[in-house]
Amino acid sequence: MPRGIPFTGEYLSRYLAAQKRWSEARDWRAKETEAGRPSTHSDFFRAHGLCPACAAAGIRLNENGVGFRTIGWNGNLPLYEECEACGGTGKIVTPS
Ligand SMILES: [Zn+2]
Repeated sequence: MPRGIPFTGEYLSRYLAAQKRWSEARDWRAKETEAGRPSTHSDFFRAHGLCPACAAAGIRLNENGVGFRTIGWNGNLPLYEECEACGGTGKIVTPS
């Protein structure tokens, strides 16, 4: 069972940090496209050591890639599904 977590604190700041890199991602993708290399958003995350499954936030994205997946409620606060790919860290975890 994945953990349900509120979208606050470290998760929120990681999400905002990723948002700030949006224009960097756009430039990177344009360059890679031009060079004929893989240039999706996931490629950008992978190339920077960030978890593509959750867009570096540590919370799992919805299947359609828009917004984050909720798995329950804590009172009237939605709980989001912690990204299992990176254990909620937002970074690529290399299995040892
Ligand atoms: Zn992740």
